[in-house]
Amino acid sequence: MKDDDSDHPEFSKTEARRIQERRAYRHAERRRRARRNRTITIALAVAVIVLAIILSPVGPLKGVLYSRSGGKKETVAASDERTTRSARKVTSSNSTTPSAPVRVEKKSNTTPPAIGIVVDDTGNVTDKLPLWTAIDAPLCFSVMPYPPLSQQLAEQLFNSGYVIMMHVPTDNAPPNSFAGTGQLATGMDRAAVFSTLDSDVSKVPHVTGMNNHMGGRGCDQLDLMTYEVEWAKSKGLFVVDSKSSVSSKVTKACLALGLPERNNEVFIDHQNDPAYIRGAMRQLADLARKNGTAIGICHWHRPNTATVVGEMIQTLKAEGIHFAFARDITN
Ligand SMILES: [Zn+2]
Repeated sequence: MKDDDSDHPEFSKTEARRIQERRAYRHAERRRRARRNRTITIALAVAVIVLAIILSPVGPLKGVLYSRSGGKKETVAASDERTTRSARKVTSSNSTTPSAPVRVEKKSNTTPPAIGIVVDDTGNVTDKLPLWTAIDAPLCFSVMPYPPLSQQLAEQLFNSGYVIMMHVPTDNAPPNSFAGTGQLATGMDRAAVFSTLDSDVSKVPHVTGMNNHMGGRGCDQLDLMTYEVEWAKSKGLFVVDSKSSVSSKVTKACLALGLPERNNEVFIDHQNDPAYIRGAMRQLADLARKNGTAIGICHWHRPNTATVVGEMIQTLKAEGIHFAFARDITN
């Protein structure tokens, strides 16, 4: 090595000093490099530790890095929820109001003889609500889209275990041709019917079925009722033919589009006299005994309906008549 040359006697003192300085410089350089390598090693170690903490499940990025697996679970849960419409609605209702009690749907017994009752014109008044909710039977409440109390009543009735339908105002023969805001009118084309019903249904929560309100003229129009039933089918809603007129085309449209026949056979409270209502309920029971099923319509607001229908349901149950949601039976 050149370091050994420094001892050669021929070297001048100046040269020897120069060599010593060079040697000192090299030593200092080695120490600097060692210090630098040590610093780099420590810095790398610290960086690895900090990165590990940031990427860990308890680190500050846990929400970003570990939400994907949670999202997959939600997707699976959502697809499970799609298995039934009612199940989905119950779940979504619970998820928005976690403290609300779980909805228990009224028992629907379709074993013949079975009666399905639709309560029309729901939405105008609240004073009958306690009378209706006292009835432990599978009633379908058909709710008018626009009266101010409709949404609140639909929520309360749904949460009480009943099925909610939309009661579609449909134009009538003069002089009472106006059936209500959001009505289907004779002469509407398919697009107008669809947009009207889209607006109507946005006003009523939990709708799974529909029937017509009034509609003595509109229900006679096969094209109008075909558009209506097409819309209902596209939304997965069941349809009851209210039989607002003797020549109603709702059932004809349903059958043409592959939907089952659900006819109103008895207007239960055509008169307010309790004896009339009892007689109409007996008429429904006779039809159910004869045909296996029977569907009747009564009205939300009429003075004696809720009380007498409730009493007659108990009486007929004791006689072996079953009660089902109109959703679950056909005729
Ligand atoms: Zn009505």
